[in-house]
Amino acid sequence: TNLSKRMSEVPIKPPVEVKYTQLLIDGKFVDAASGKTFKTLDPRTGDVIANVAEGDAEDINRAVAAARKAFDEGPWPRMTAYERQKVLLRFANLLEQHNDEIAALEAWDSGKPYQNALIEVSMVTRLMRYNAGWADKIHGLTVPAHGPFHMQTLYEPIGVAAGIIPWNFPLPMYAWKVAPALACGCTVVLKPAEQTPLTALLVSQLLYEAGLPPGVLNVIPGFGPTAGAALASHMDVDKIAFTGSTETGRIISDLAIKSNMKSVTLELGGKSPFIVCEDADVDKAVELAHQALFFNQGECCAAGSRTFVHERIYDEFVEKSKQRALKRSVGDPFKEGTEQGPQIDEEQFNKILRYIKSGVESGATLESGGERLGDKGYYIKPTVFSNVKDDMLIAKDEIFGPVQTILKFKDLNEVIRRANATHYGLAAGIFSQNVDTINTLTRALKAGTIWVNCYDVFDAALPFGGYKMSGHGRENGFNGLLNYLQVKSVCTTLVNPAW
Ligand code: NAD
Repeated sequence: TNLSKRMSEVPIKPPVEVKYTQLLIDGKFVDAASGKTFKTLDPRTGDVIANVAEGDAEDINRAVAAARKAFDEGPWPRMTAYERQKVLLRFANLLEQHNDEIAALEAWDSGKPYQNALIEVSMVTRLMRYNAGWADKIHGLTVPAHGPFHMQTLYEPIGVAAGIIPWNFPLPMYAWKVAPALACGCTVVLKPAEQTPLTALLVSQLLYEAGLPPGVLNVIPGFGPTAGAALASHMDVDKIAFTGSTETGRIISDLAIKSNMKSVTLELGGKSPFIVCEDADVDKAVELAHQALFFNQGECCAAGSRTFVHERIYDEFVEKSKQRALKRSVGDPFKEGTEQGPQIDEEQFNKILRYIKSGVESGATLESGGERLGDKGYYIKPTVFSNVKDDMLIAKDEIFGPVQTILKFKDLNEVIRRANATHYGLAAGIFSQNVDTINTLTRALKAGTIWVNCYDVFDAALPFGGYKMSGHGRENGFNGLLNYLQVKSVCTTLVNPAW
């Protein structure tokens, strides 16, 4: 078959060299204090791409000290906003100039198709420019007082901001944390995911080339329970932003509360409904639902992972979804036309296969896929389950892989109740032409983002975040900047209130 032919070939050599593998502290690449390194692997084969310096608590202390100094003494928060803006805009230009190299490194380290990685670099570039644009437009208010006072609000950067990010969108997640923090005048310590440390180091070097003063951004690759936990519990970090699993989000919140009560924003897991209504054009709905789930190997916090389909079109929808999944082109991320690469690592690969097994055992109908593809690397065949019931594990847990679960519904009130019957609330998709149906659903669904006749549309200007256990706070847009600002109220007596 096409699929096995694609898989039998030798992996394509990525068109990029690994330049940076050390910790980035105070503007310089340095080894970990312990001298330790860890391997980052190629998801296509499981082979080692590079040995990367492994930061732990001692390195986090060094990085936070550099960020603290850069905040308290350095020029960054006291530079004019226009000067900070210029650094970020120069960085955006450098991202454009180096987009091939950055995208190739990202595809290699994460397994995502190179073409998708290229799009992500352009999203990151736009995000940098968007936030740079805000830098000199953040200002407070003059407040009318009930009494003889001059009252005003001042917006100040919150201080040293920490970011802990996952491996599914390493660069966009980097940008969501770093861009608003720097635009507001904060300094940053970032811990990339241990599976994908490479691009954060590469682009941070470009940020320094763009004119960032030493210590303003520090990048510490390492593991969660060591480097990550040290960052979350550090007494000198003023704010932490995390994206990843709900379990780890809970640990980070806990560490923040137990240390200095630093402010926390969390973007966590999801089990987002994608609702295909009775009036839908089935072919279009099938394609969108397919993309909503299978995009990025299914490794998406916002994946449309519960496909609810109206009973009138259910059978046709299932058959066409199966055919679409069978046609999905899975293979080397560097091969032209690849829609789906390997999963990130062995742990996720095994976890997804366990969920597939549980789907079969619980009585769902396996329409396609259901097993690994090839015999090396972490490829999984696009998998579709029909006849899925709400109480099955595959309908409740975040699988984070290429596994579509299709559920049947009869009427709108029923689907609203079932769609909301989850601890998650990150996103939801609606497919319908009926304005009344759309208006009812957009208001009734408990989710931070609702996509109507589209899916996975992200914008630097549009806030993103979760209801319920999908998180806390919003990133992107002006809401995203507020996470990195303190509001100071200043009240001054007026000696001559008559004027
Ligand atoms: P994770 O949440 O554990 O890891 C994300 C980041 O948190 C990584 O940088 C990791 O090093 C760090 N981390 C882990 N433990 C930590 C700790 N105790 N203290 C501080 N930082 C810590 O996710 P994972 O283990 O890579 O994946 C597990 C599951 O999480 C996935 O199967 C998926 O369901 C979910 N996930 C969700 C997202 C998302 O975007 N919402 C992203 C990745 C994974």
